[in-house]
Amino acid sequence: MTAVAELMDYAEVIERFDPVLGLEVHVELNTNTKMFCGCVNEFGGEPNTKTCPTCLGLPGSLPVVNGKAVEGAIRIGLALNCEIAEWCRFARKNYFYPDMPKNFQTSQYDEPIAFDGYLDVTLDDGEVVRVEIERAHMEEDTGKSLHVGGATGRIHGAEHSLLDYNRAGVPLIEIVTKPITGTGERAPEVARAYVTALRDLLRALDVSDVRMDQGSLRCDANVSLMAKDATEFGTRTETKNVNSLRSVERAVRYEMTRQAAILAEGGSIRQETRHFQEADGTTSSGRAKETAEDYRYFPEPDLVPIAPSREWVEELRATLPEMPWERRKRIQEEWKLSDEALRDLLNVGAVDLVAATVEAGATPDEARGWWVNTLAQEANTREVELAELAITPAQVAEVIGLVSSGELTNKLAKEVVQGVLAGEGSPREVVEKRGLKVVSDDSALLTAVDEALAAQPDIADKIRGGKVAAAGAIVGAVMKATKGQADAKRVRELIIERVGS
Ligand code: ADP
Ligand code: MG
Ligand code: ZN
Repeated sequence: MTAVAELMDYAEVIERFDPVLGLEVHVELNTNTKMFCGCVNEFGGEPNTKTCPTCLGLPGSLPVVNGKAVEGAIRIGLALNCEIAEWCRFARKNYFYPDMPKNFQTSQYDEPIAFDGYLDVTLDDGEVVRVEIERAHMEEDTGKSLHVGGATGRIHGAEHSLLDYNRAGVPLIEIVTKPITGTGERAPEVARAYVTALRDLLRALDVSDVRMDQGSLRCDANVSLMAKDATEFGTRTETKNVNSLRSVERAVRYEMTRQAAILAEGGSIRQETRHFQEADGTTSSGRAKETAEDYRYFPEPDLVPIAPSREWVEELRATLPEMPWERRKRIQEEWKLSDEALRDLLNVGAVDLVAATVEAGATPDEARGWWVNTLAQEANTREVELAELAITPAQVAEVIGLVSSGELTNKLAKEVVQGVLAGEGSPREVVEKRGLKVVSDDSALLTAVDEALAAQPDIADKIRGGKVAAAGAIVGAVMKATKGQADAKRVRELIIERVGS
């Protein structure tokens, strides 16, 4: 058993230290085939069915670079405001691990395809932090080990391990930041916001499906602390296994409080990799960090250098889509949103859904109202992402349409949405099945109005005497009588007509 780490109170950490962050993000590209062979590039599947001599490292096999992957790397570099190398090479990173049959990973070392860029990241309160990008380089993914028989799923304590090489050789881009300084107490939030912004950018570029839960987007968080009077960076740890955006924030925060407690007692930080535990939000010690020399990098002799012509780079620049931040700005203007309304929309992750609902015919305000209020609450209760709710933007637009045509009141519309979420069918089907249509037949309403007026003659007199506001009580009675299925506006009109005549 390892001792439970002492942690320093977060406020004290901030008083005594300045955090420094470095984020390494690996993204699997969604190319049709792998990085250096023609095997299909797909998540999962029967183990070891998507392999060939090249990605298994068999003797005599030779790699060929996937042009689409290079294209993706350049587009990512351009979107991150990087320089694109005029000439660069792959290198062999030598080490043994069973998930890597060649005994080296084909990667890039001191000649990355893209370098010296930046990404502007917007925090929850609207503050913008510029994160500088050191490099984005191409490499290949490893296979997957499955450690069987242990309690943790890790190799320690396992009885045996199984290997699946389907993922071996999948194109990977590693994006590395320069040290991020000066963020103080917001360091954990900056880390999450950066990975979020990067994910949104990669999604807009359509180069990856960016699923952190499936490992197509992975983040390693380097954290160190500097005492307030220090002039040099402290020793960093690199936390791996950070599988969600929220975990990025938690892992950084945890490391800050753990390292501070050690440093405050005169201890020193070991440069090591650490593992994040989702369950309790702690990190645990991994292996001591090796240095670049340990890997015996050397240029890959089986692959030609990559020399993207400037014409090609400019062609690719022209393919860049509208960037997420540009889109946000445009949407804010088009939908006339306050900064706060835009933030609410972003915080619940509703931009795409609202846009699709508008596309399907709703007004931006109506669409926003449903997604940001009613549906965000539903997602919250069900503990799922908004996009995972069992209702489509087209269905939300249909409900909105039924309200504007007077077929549903807002109250009934909410019931219809409940029905759709419960899997009872499309909005119209739910209206039919649950019998939720507004009573729009005037003669039926008039009967209810007459009954309500007869039941409360004093109120009828008041209305007759000019106190139109008193009609509210009668409207209420009619709504009750029709089980909420009447259009309140029409009821009010009928009451005034009736009393006046
Ligand atoms: P490694 O090969 O060890 O993973 P990389 O250069 O790929 O190293 O990534 C290291 C990351 O850590 C980079 O983002 C870098 O900016 C950052 N970094 C470097 N020194 C420190 C430090 N002292 N504290 C925090 N982050 C650091
Ligand atoms: Mg690295
Ligand atoms: Zn292959």
